[in-house]
Amino acid sequence: MKQSYKTIIGLEVHARLDTKSKMFCSCDNLSDGVEPNTNVCEICMGHPGSLPVANRIAIDWTLRSGLAFHCTIPLFSKFDRKNYFYPDLSKGYQISQYDLPFCTNGYLEVDGNKKIRIQRIHLEEDAAKNTHPSGEKYSFIDFNRAGTPLMEIVSEPDIDTPQQARQYMQELQKILRYLGVSRADMEKGHMRCDANINVKDMESGRVTGIIEIKNMNSFRSVERSLLFEEKRLCEKLESGEKLETKKATYRWDDEKGETFIMREKEEASDYRYFPEPDIPPFTFEKQDIETIKKSIPELPQEKVSRFQKEFGLNKNDAELLTAQKDRAAFFEQAVSELLEWSSSEGMKKNETEKLIQTSTNYIFTELLRYLKEKSLTFSDLKAHPEDFAELMKMTFQKEINSSATQRVLNIMIQKGGDPSEIVKSENLAQVSDEGELEKVVLKVIDEHEGPVKDFHKGKERALQFLIGMVMKQTHGKANPQIVKQLLEKLLKT
Ligand code: ZN
Ligand code: MN
Repeated sequence: MKQSYKTIIGLEVHARLDTKSKMFCSCDNLSDGVEPNTNVCEICMGHPGSLPVANRIAIDWTLRSGLAFHCTIPLFSKFDRKNYFYPDLSKGYQISQYDLPFCTNGYLEVDGNKKIRIQRIHLEEDAAKNTHPSGEKYSFIDFNRAGTPLMEIVSEPDIDTPQQARQYMQELQKILRYLGVSRADMEKGHMRCDANINVKDMESGRVTGIIEIKNMNSFRSVERSLLFEEKRLCEKLESGEKLETKKATYRWDDEKGETFIMREKEEASDYRYFPEPDIPPFTFEKQDIETIKKSIPELPQEKVSRFQKEFGLNKNDAELLTAQKDRAAFFEQAVSELLEWSSSEGMKKNETEKLIQTSTNYIFTELLRYLKEKSLTFSDLKAHPEDFAELMKMTFQKEINSSATQRVLNIMIQKGGDPSEIVKSENLAQVSDEGELEKVVLKVIDEHEGPVKDFHKGKERALQFLIGMVMKQTHGKANPQIVKQLLEKLLKT
């Protein structure tokens, strides 16, 4: 890519809101996987004479999202009809918002400090889902999805690279999940994205037409499809050929790893928007908006900096711990137990930080690995944060050694339970009693003449070997520090 070329990307993201009922009727909105065309009524099918009623929760959640993205909430708003003919739309129009969306002029930060402006967030209803069985001459239409609430988040063309587009989507997903308004799962179609891209030569001023890409169902495909188009558009600029000025729509084929043209885009005016006559417009009081503002929980970026400050974590660890809300909650609950304990014990600051770091490491190595393997999250975990904290205390006080900690943790992950009881029932308590250990140490010295000689010749590895033998004879329960001290003492006499 030439130095003077600038990539310009804007994203339109549709996120399904997880309200109980659909946008304008009382049909179940959380009925994924039920028999097609069973979860419908005269309103979401658009039978003549049926009257839509706006879902208040969906509106509140849209405002909540808007406020989380630093948007302005206009005090007056309305729904409009967007008219078009397509088989997924039995009414012949979609209820959406045209010139007075619920939220305007916000932003989202990615990559530490890059601000991507959000032009608007509006609320609308989803259409039916079409499927095209391959090789057949017919298609299926499932109206269960018709009328489900969709929030459309439109960014300004502030995104500079395909990779940044992916970061924007990931941050958006994280925030929507923190807000509890959408599962925002791209693979399941809860969050969908249309990307607009064009490339401009800043030297000559030549600019390509805008390409809209549809049908990406993962973060990876967002980035890949944009990389594909970026390259294609750069080659167009390079070749000096006449540039298309009309906007064109392409579909992404994830298997082939390329885009193909779908259609040339209609202009907005083709939709003949007009105010929805069946739903009166909305006026909001400043006070309503303040109340919604207060319902916004602490968001990921705020949590990252607080975790760094309060718990002495580095940024990487803090980001990993806050990537999911329930993960952050688990960590925070466990750590608050540990902090209480450490202050009651009068522990020093560096000791406390060590305790937290050890616990963080166990979360990353044991818990996260397990959850990833099973594609679960922390809320599925059988182990309670209090019990996890208890186990960390026991480990820290050397009541059990690290291999026993791992074993207890594995049991806790799968079955839950109190760690001290698991230690008892599994007979894992660490042996620190010198008298008891001395017997074993003497026996090991007696049985291993060779390594004992090696030790006397100054071979450090021989000592490690003898420690290992003691650990083996005690089934891993001996306190290794004490074993080491005893061996050093007894070998010298
Ligand atoms: Zn319905
Ligand atoms: Mn839309």
